[in-house]
Amino acid sequence: MPEAFEYIAARSVGDVLDALADGRTSVLAGGQSLLVEPTLGSGPPCPEPPLRVVDINPIAGLDTLTEADGVLRVGPLVRHDAFEADVVGGALGDLMRLVVCHIGHPPVRARGTMLGSLAYAHPAAEWPVVAVALGAHLVLATTTGRRTVPAVSFYTGPFSTVRRPDELLIEAWLPVLPESTGAGYAEDRRTTIYPQAAALATLTVVDGVVTGAAIGLVNAGPCPVRARTAERELVGHPPSDTMINAAADCAAEADGRGQQAFRVLVRRALTQARNRVRTGVPAAEA
Ligand SMILES: Cc1cc2nc3c(=O)[nH]c(=O)nc-3n(C[C@H](O)[C@H](O)[C@H](O)COP(=O)(O)OP(=O)(O)OC[C@H]3O[C@@H](n4cnc5c(N)ncnc54)[C@H](O)[C@@H]3O)c2cc1C
Repeated sequence: MPEAFEYIAARSVGDVLDALADGRTSVLAGGQSLLVEPTLGSGPPCPEPPLRVVDINPIAGLDTLTEADGVLRVGPLVRHDAFEADVVGGALGDLMRLVVCHIGHPPVRARGTMLGSLAYAHPAAEWPVVAVALGAHLVLATTTGRRTVPAVSFYTGPFSTVRRPDELLIEAWLPVLPESTGAGYAEDRRTTIYPQAAALATLTVVDGVVTGAAIGLVNAGPCPVRARTAERELVGHPPSDTMINAAADCAAEADGRGQQAFRVLVRRALTQARNRVRTGVPAAEA
């Protein structure tokens, strides 16, 4: 059982920021990692029990998802299962739907939040890799203002980020993917709690040539991994099986342990992404 802690029910974002200002208060969002995971033994190696939690669930309006100017803005009470629906069009929506159905099981997805997962920084979590691979930005708020951090700069290690204890992660900004983009996702999972390894990919194909690619590796290191060298291998070429295999080999080099696992997963994710490109090159071998 989690240890006893002081509980504050926030009524406004201001209440949350005031509570966090003491630097020893934890945000309670879905509670799946803060409260449930410690009972399952899957949390940080040396879990610090919260002394005081501020519950953001009573606050209205934090569950909004808005798309404007090519960006999907995700609020701190958007639950995982929101992404099972068609919340955003194109390849970003496809990718979210492909990924979300793998997270835990339905009750975890109904309670847990994307921003909670981003803040928790479990090295085998899916959303942090989506955020890093797509070039998302994260907005952090305190009583004195806000700052925006690129997701790639947010993670510093397992369960470790640049978020200061007095900061609320108030929004994630995910870029909407261009036309002619396909998304793919593949994972090796043996239990309902986190995958052993996973890969996600997007491919933008114009006139039969790859003009953009993103490849993310889940549980490939202490922080989410974006396989940029492998992405560069693909750009400027048709998305042929040969190029996909070469990129998968290259991406696997980014991981020091299970290279073969990532080679297979990246190949599967890239092939799925190529086959889901809505326009541009046909799904068959170019
Ligand atoms: C059985 C089980 C299986 C799971 N399987 C998976 C899986 O396969 N893949 C996966 O990715 N996850 C998995 N999870 C974790 C789940 O996705 C959690 O929902 C998620 O990691 C945290 O979200 P939460 O909203 O529950 O956060 P909470 O548990 O409420 O908080 C987690 C941490 O983040 C902090 N926090 C939360 N929100 C904010 C915020 N807005 N600003 C600042 N700090 C914040 C909290 O203070 C706490 O330290 C699993 C959990 C369980 C119990």
